[in-house]
Amino acid sequence: MKHVVIVGGGFAGLNVAKTLGNHPELRVTLLDKHNFHLFQPLLYQVAMAALNAGEIAYPLRMILSKYKNITVLKGVVKTVDPFRKTIVTDFGEITYDTLVMACGTKHHYFGHNEWEEYAPGLKTIAQAAEIRRRVMDAYENAERSVDPEEKRKLLTFVIVGGGPTGVELAGSIGEMSRHYLSKYFKNIDPTQVRIFIAHSAPRILHTFSPELSAKATEALARLGVEVLSSCKVTGINEHGVEIGEQRIEATTVLWAAGVRATSIGKTIGFETDRSGRIIVGADLSVPGHPDVFAGGDQAHFKLPGGATLPGLASVALQEGEAIGRNILNEIIGKPRIPFIYRDKGQMATIGKNTAIAERGNVRLSGLPAWIIWLSVHIYYLSGAKHRLFVLLQWGCSFFTFGHGARIVNKEWRFYPTVPEKAEPAEKEE
Ligand SMILES: Cc1cc2nc3c(=O)[nH]c(=O)nc-3n(C[C@H](O)[C@H](O)[C@H](O)COP(=O)(O)OP(=O)(O)OC[C@H]3O[C@@H](n4cnc5c(N)ncnc54)[C@H](O)[C@@H]3O)c2cc1C
Repeated sequence: MKHVVIVGGGFAGLNVAKTLGNHPELRVTLLDKHNFHLFQPLLYQVAMAALNAGEIAYPLRMILSKYKNITVLKGVVKTVDPFRKTIVTDFGEITYDTLVMACGTKHHYFGHNEWEEYAPGLKTIAQAAEIRRRVMDAYENAERSVDPEEKRKLLTFVIVGGGPTGVELAGSIGEMSRHYLSKYFKNIDPTQVRIFIAHSAPRILHTFSPELSAKATEALARLGVEVLSSCKVTGINEHGVEIGEQRIEATTVLWAAGVRATSIGKTIGFETDRSGRIIVGADLSVPGHPDVFAGGDQAHFKLPGGATLPGLASVALQEGEAIGRNILNEIIGKPRIPFIYRDKGQMATIGKNTAIAERGNVRLSGLPAWIIWLSVHIYYLSGAKHRLFVLLQWGCSFFTFGHGARIVNKEWRFYPTVPEKAEPAEKEE
């Protein structure tokens, strides 16, 4: 039997595995450093205490249990020797006939890894838990503070990056400040809360049309979020953020500005782009290594016009399936099929009842977009129980604004216990 090894149980890796599931001629091993699949698009809801971590993480073993030919192994892949067809992991070596790399991305602090301590990013459950702790602690400390300067700093939140994650975080903090603070905190005036999005491009959500981007900016303004566009963050420390000469004193700074592919592609010696993504050919295999594929956020796939695909779940899902189909084609002696991406559009939510959605020339905002956003996220969430729980949680908070997950405790340990660090700083090109 041919041995297919898949590294990464995210959207791409999982879809490769499902496509190969129960094939009589294949033995499949899926390796991931976690034993769960994480639904990253709802991670900000864990960070903002709207959902619990267990509601968006699903054990890989359970998802794949119905496939007799698939084994799930928890472990970290350190490197790969493509000439010996061997993977080096933290628990030993594994040989393969076909390899699929789908390790996703990590945060990128543009050569300033020292900022990570003061501005955590949002990519893992541990990071979501840390963000939740910082936001909740800021409210708790502001409630008891008698120093107006200190209170102002505690009630100032800066989100660096105006993409969908930055917007979702800022919108949630705005909503929480308006509704939660006024109800439960007696010494905080919600209008004192200041939320900034510091964004380097002229407008936030710049992959959306200017019209939708403007609507999102207006919706954010209604929640008290101020967008600072075309600005470059030059410093972040325990006192706040520096934007050139301007300084914003803030206790809570969150990073939603940059990601780059995990460095493993470079470590192996594959050709990578500036973001560390492995360059793949039309069939999603690595040039010169037809038995190695890369997909999802870790792959750099060029469209016929020259543009590359964005880091989206729908891209990872489609690439995962296409890789799986090409592996199956090979077994039956059929040629590989070039990958064709079908644009499913993009969405971002700003708060309760408000989202933007765009597909081709169809542009929606407000409640209709929010209903689509909600339906799509529930549909793609793994496990019927998770879907039901999330729907129930959302239903309750929709009518009451009372989120059940707003408890924080420094001593609690989330899995993994230590938040992952950003890639080592690299000299900017
Ligand atoms: C906060 C946030 C919000 C997002 N919102 C949206 C959204 O609304 N819509 C959308 O389309 N996309 C969204 N995305 C992007 C989307 O989640 C990614 O594009 C998608 O997860 C990519 O899938 P992937 O399989 O390539 O990688 P991932 O889902 O990141 O999976 C990679 C897997 O590889 C494992 N891994 C990594 N390195 C190793 C190693 N060395 N050894 C073993 N295992 C390893 C990881 O544990 C992980 O399970 C969001 C992302 C984030 C972080």
